[in-house]
Amino acid sequence: MKKDFSIKETAEKLSRHSCDRPRVVSFVLGVEGDEFIGKNQLRMDVSNTVRQAQAHVEDIIGLETADRKAVVSDLDLIAKWMDTQYIRGKEKSLLFFVCSEIGLFEVLPVNESVSHTFEVGRSPNLVALEALATKAHGTGIILVNKEIARIYTFRFNELRIDRVVEDEVPNKHHKGGWSQMRYQRHVEDHVYRHLSRASNVTSHVLDVRKWDSVLIAGPEEVRTMFTGLLHPYVTQRIVGDLSLSVDIAESELERIVSKSVERLNRESDQKLLWDLERAIDQSDSGVQGIEDATRDMRDSRLEVLFVRDHTLRDMDVQGYRCHECGYLATSGQRCQNCGADLEEHVELMGALMQEAFRRGCKVQIVADDIPSWALKDVAAIRRY
Ligand SMILES: [Zn+2]
Repeated sequence: MKKDFSIKETAEKLSRHSCDRPRVVSFVLGVEGDEFIGKNQLRMDVSNTVRQAQAHVEDIIGLETADRKAVVSDLDLIAKWMDTQYIRGKEKSLLFFVCSEIGLFEVLPVNESVSHTFEVGRSPNLVALEALATKAHGTGIILVNKEIARIYTFRFNELRIDRVVEDEVPNKHHKGGWSQMRYQRHVEDHVYRHLSRASNVTSHVLDVRKWDSVLIAGPEEVRTMFTGLLHPYVTQRIVGDLSLSVDIAESELERIVSKSVERLNRESDQKLLWDLERAIDQSDSGVQGIEDATRDMRDSRLEVLFVRDHTLRDMDVQGYRCHECGYLATSGQRCQNCGADLEEHVELMGALMQEAFRRGCKVQIVADDIPSWALKDVAAIRRY
């Protein structure tokens, strides 16, 4: 089981897997629950979920008997893997992509609740992964004072330490022979050098982690000084600051950061929704509904795709993908781009998100309880 994987790369790799027959199983299993939930309880839950999925295989349209058998037996493989190989960590969900026919067995642990999905198709259903990828890079937290800087990444509700920068501070006792002023300068030099070093390390960590946003934490006076020394490449990602002591326990820090990131995410969702409302209201640059979004996505005209959270679970709109050129369509028999027959059925919501990732269109998944007249299920802002 891969513990630290890049969602974007994994999604890209998985999207290259396909089977001639509709036998690829995409299965999300929730393993969240009481920390002390026994292994037996978990085993029972898993085997129940797998059995429900196996019963559901009968209802899937378009499967031949051999396909059903293959899918049921791959679900057995998942149950067996859970029983014999799974070691429980901090993850809340496991994403399985399995097809024995093409030698695919991929398990990805994610520390976020992903709604339960069971899909069978010719290729992996990557909606769950893609939903995660929209917040994949997480937030950088730099907790800093005059002597120490701790650099963390907060991602999927989990705080991880990346680097610690510690610098010796001159002996706090005034050394004989030094004038007060000269001594003060000496201390300030040290603090300046420490913060500069912390700033450089922050840039290096950002290069690797590619945070979407940054929070600066620490005593106020140091935060101001430190922020002034940061590279613009870092400062442009700063979304807030926190007054905290560097001695804070890591679990407490994780709790505070989690709350603060949630609030910031809602604020940024709200701002983007206002942009969407303006785009629809005042100009011709807004799009509403899955049909129009699909049309504009095909023509690479979208900047941001908005999707209501519940839509990922509930929306089941069937569409078509042209097997010649990949064009998506909501209806019709021939591809509007190349004229080939439209014969491959796809679940449109998933296909649309996949296209968005492929074309570099930003995907914004918006919580259901943030009101906006402009976004019912799917909407988008066009590129200028
Ligand atoms: Zn085509």
